[in-house]
Amino acid sequence: MGELGPKLRAALEGVPASRPPSRQPSRLSSSAGAPGTEAQQSPPQHSQPQPVYKLSANENPYPPLPGVIERAVAGAQGINRYPDLWCGELTRELAARFDVPESHIATGTGSVGVTQQLLQITAQPGDEVLYAWRSFEAYPVLTRIAGARPVEVPLAAGEVHDLDAMAAAITERTRLIFVCNPNNPTGTIVRRAELERFLDRVPSDVLVVLDEAYIEFVEDEDFPDGIDVYRGRPNVCVLRTFSKAYGLAGMRVGFAVAHEPVAAALRKTAVPFGVTQFAQDAAVASLRAEAAMRERVTALTAERARVSAALTGQGWALEPSHANFVWLRTGERTDALAELCAHEGILVRAFNGEGARISLGEPAANDRFLYVAERFRKELPGV
Ligand SMILES: *Cc1c(COP(=O)(O)O)cnc(C)c1O
Repeated sequence: MGELGPKLRAALEGVPASRPPSRQPSRLSSSAGAPGTEAQQSPPQHSQPQPVYKLSANENPYPPLPGVIERAVAGAQGINRYPDLWCGELTRELAARFDVPESHIATGTGSVGVTQQLLQITAQPGDEVLYAWRSFEAYPVLTRIAGARPVEVPLAAGEVHDLDAMAAAITERTRLIFVCNPNNPTGTIVRRAELERFLDRVPSDVLVVLDEAYIEFVEDEDFPDGIDVYRGRPNVCVLRTFSKAYGLAGMRVGFAVAHEPVAAALRKTAVPFGVTQFAQDAAVASLRAEAAMRERVTALTAERARVSAALTGQGWALEPSHANFVWLRTGERTDALAELCAHEGILVRAFNGEGARISLGEPAANDRFLYVAERFRKELPGV
């Protein structure tokens, strides 16, 4: 017998192995109180370790929106049954909310789940998938798993998408283009006129995905709402999620809005019963708590302004963020910053050689980060 084991797809060799972190934080702060209420925290004591603040995954620090837990708990009686295969109530609610036909909506297990389906419906081995870099980490991983070829176009000065270079990088092999707007991890946006100009240059048989995971945090008046953009463009697909502004990251539910052929293909490739009834119910209840969602987003964007101004005051050069995180271009010092943060009980997302992405959390978490950022500049100058 050989020692070779089962033959696996060669495409997987280009995908980094995923491993759990070696050490889990022991005292993760679970969630802040709703805005305007004091967080339930015991006064700091020397004998007690400080809570660990997770500012590494762009999660919402606030608890689920009013009505969400009640609705999800009520559904617990039914978990011996499969969920609604078609996500009917959620689809109807989304269609009404965005004034689009139900047939234009495809739900999935988080928008990352829908992203995987987007690759399944467009990309075959040898095809090209185009996106800016650095951008969302799922793009290269899912592209490689599909056996397609990632074509990464470096961000331009100011950490923005270089749409001219992206248009120039389109070939007859290009099948899928991601425009992450706002961009994760830089927080920058593509504005309406430049997006329309770019879309005019993309061949009509290439699908363009507007990944709008952070749209609720955008205040810029020239930001293009993808749902307006897609209406006149059959090759545009909008991707949204309940994980960020709606605070349902743990539920795994996201959706695409696209013209019927694309949406129907996405529904074909969905994992059957992938979106649990808990997730469907929580998403519906969250949509109905729009006002509370807006209030929390306002609290987070206020923190974004406060943290950004404080960092600028400390001497950091940063581009304005339009999302629920800030990006510091710390280059080779990035791991050092992340280590100092970890030492002080803050988890951030570090891309060594490039920069660090720090999610906006509750004010106490942000204050702690600002304290570390200032210390870092004093103790390790050179960024
Ligand atoms: C967080 C994020 C998502 C959302 O992922 P889910 O699978 O819905 O949790 C999608 N796109 C980008 C760019 C993100 O940053």
